[in-house]
Formats: sequence, C-alpha cells, structure tokens
Amino acid sequence: MIELVTILLATGAAAFAALRVRREAERRADAAIATEQRARHSLERRVLESETRRAQLEAVIASMDEGVLGVGDDRRVLLANPRVREIFAAPAELEGRSLLEAVRDAQVVEALESALGTGAAQVLEVAIGPAPERRLRFSVAPFALQNGRTGAVAVFRDVTELRRSESARRDFIANASHELKTPLTAIRGFAERLADAELPDAGSKQAVETILGNARRLGAIVEDLLELSRIEGGSVPLRAEPVALGELARRLLRDLDPRLRAGELVARVEAGAERALCDKRGIEHVLVNLLDNAIKYTPAGGEIAVRVRPVAAGRVRVEVEDTGDGIPRKDLPRIFERFYRVDPGRSRQQGGTGLGLAIAKHWVQAMGGEIGVESQLGHGSRFWLELPAA
Ligand code: ADP
Repeated sequence: MIELVTILLATGAAAFAALRVRREAERRADAAIATEQRARHSLERRVLESETRRAQLEAVIASMDEGVLGVGDDRRVLLANPRVREIFAAPAELEGRSLLEAVRDAQVVEALESALGTGAAQVLEVAIGPAPERRLRFSVAPFALQNGRTGAVAVFRDVTELRRSESARRDFIANASHELKTPLTAIRGFAERLADAELPDAGSKQAVETILGNARRLGAIVEDLLELSRIEGGSVPLRAEPVALGELARRLLRDLDPRLRAGELVARVEAGAERALCDKRGIEHVLVNLLDNAIKYTPAGGEIAVRVRPVAAGRVRVEVEDTGDGIPRKDLPRIFERFYRVDPGRSRQQGGTGLGLAIAKHWVQAMGGEIGVESQLGHGSRFWLELPAA
C-alpha cells in the first residue's frame, strides 16, 4: 500500500515536473517565435525602407539637371541618368556597357580612369564635339563598392550657354572700352594743351584741371577694363619662366612711390632666392597692384613688409603686409570683385579704378596660383599669393 502511494506520488511529482518542463519549453518556444517574428518584421521594415530610399534616390538622380555616371573598376557603367544619355547622345540603355562606348570622349574617359586608378577626386572642364562644340564641367570622385571593389562617379554640367554669355559680356566690355579710347585720348590731349596755355582766370584753370583729372581717371579705368577682358578671355599669351620674387619686389619698391623715398613709409623685403615659375609681366602686374594698395591705404609712419618663402606642394608664398587702414571683415569676401571698394570716395581720391585686385586675381589664377587676404580693421592687411615654385 505504502509502495503504491510512493509510486503514485513519484509519478505525480514526475508528471508535475514534466509539465513544468513542457511549460518552460513552450514559453521558450513562444518567446523564440516572438523574437523571430520581431526580427522578420524589422528585416521587412528595413528592406522596405531601403527600397523606398533607393527609389527616392533613383527618382532624384533621374530628375537631376546634371548628368550622373557611375562606373565600376571593370570600366562598365553601373548607373547613368537620362541627362547623361542626353549629354553624350548615348543609347537608351547604358548600364553594363563599356565606359568608352557610353561617353565616347577621351578626356572624360581619362578622368574617370584616373579617379579609379589614383582614388583622387578632380574637377575638369572640357569641350566635346561634334560641332557645334559644347562645354562640359564635371567632377569625378572615387567610391567604394562591395567586395573590396571600387567605382567612380562623375557629375556633368553643360556650361555651354554660361560660357557663351560670359564671352559675350567680355566682348562687349572689350569693344566698349576700345571705342572709348579714341575720344578719351582726344579729350585728354586738348585738356593738356589748355592746361599748359595762359588762361584768363583761376576758375577756367580749375575747370581745365578737373577735365584733365577726370580724363586721366577714365583712361585708367578703360585701360584696366581692357587688361581684365584680355586676361579673362585668355588672349594674353602666358610665358612661364623662373622669376626671383624677392629681387622683383625690391626693384618695384624702389621704383614705386615718392612716399617711400621721402621716408613717410618704411618698406622691407624678407626673401631668399626663392623663384616662382610664372609669367614675368603677370607677376609684376600683381605685385605692383598689391604694393601700390599697401602704400595708398597706409597712413604716414606705417610699415610695409614683403615676405617670400617656400611652402608645401612645391609652391612659393608671397605676402604683402601693411600696418594701414585694414579692411572690415564683412568686405573681405568681396574685395577681389571688380569695382568693389570699401570706401569708394577714398579710392577715387587716391586715383584707384576699383579694378586692381580683380586683375591681380585673374593673373594669379591664369598662372596656376591662388590669392587671398587677411585683415583687421585699423591694424593692417596681409595680402598673400601662392605660385608654383621654379
Ligand atoms: P582700388 O583701385 O580702389 O585700390 P583695388 O581693386 O586695388 O581697387 O582694391 C579694391 C579695394 O580694396 C580698395 O578700394 C580698398 O578699399 C581695398 N584695399 C585694397 N588693398 C588694401 C589695403 N592694402 N589696405 C586696405 N584696403 C585695401
């Protein structure tokens, strides 16, 4: 009897234990199912999200005014939007075709190849045929694909119209300046004759002086406008040769201004034998302008320093520093624009045309360099430029 009870109790306990184990197993199974469902939902949501994002991205790329072309390191097209097909008059389906087949332009192929090969980004502008020729400005950048592969993407902008209107504006300014030259020369010539002549009264003398002064100012503006359109239009032939910058700065300072000779201002040049590879006329023009400004905008007792030193990437840096008026911070970004002056009255009174820095910037850029300025109002300015070293 006792045995039976013991067996029953043991069976009961075993059954209870089994029930607990089963319940635990069921609970775990339920939890596992719930986790799996959650994971599946989250995966589905992620897939949906990434598909939506991809669709959005594709819609954006398809509607862009710029042409977008992506290629893999096997030189096959991975992505091409409708605009790129239009620009290169390419067949409807570009994906999978070879790069050369897609763009049929050696310079564009070379730029993409170079991005794939060197991994370096670049911005270029090229003319593509056949006639009528069109101008394309484009940036190329490498990117990483899956499985360690690389690709390159190029974004093309058709700047044909923009360049055409720029060139029309340049031609207009050049032609107008040219037309103004002849009558101006006549006005100046006659005003000079009158200024030398005996005049009946002081009022007439002053009137003639005013005509002469303004004719000279107008002449300077016309000359500067012509110079600017010549460099901008690329019609000035540049000849790159080694130029000793310190030596040049010393000579220019000697020739430049009576205020230096009179000791009103002190100027010094800190330079070794650094030489830049640039156009002699161009760099002279730039330095004359910067030194002339430093002299014009520095009151008596001030100092001007020219420093020349080699910097990274095979470049030479020139700084023209003065202890003069300085330039307000808000004007700094616009100081190289044509006719931009901080104080127009002061500039005119000093005989300035408002074009000097715009010309300097064009010259420096044409010579493959960069120009900039740092300044503090009331404390002076430091204009700098960097050019390729010789
Ligand atoms: P401008 O013929 O008027 O001197 P620039 O193009 O050479 O024309 O210079 C534009 C303006 O920049 C000047 O009118 C002046 O306000 C400012 N500027 C240029 N250089 C200096 C300088 N060294 N110190 C203070 N202001 C300067």
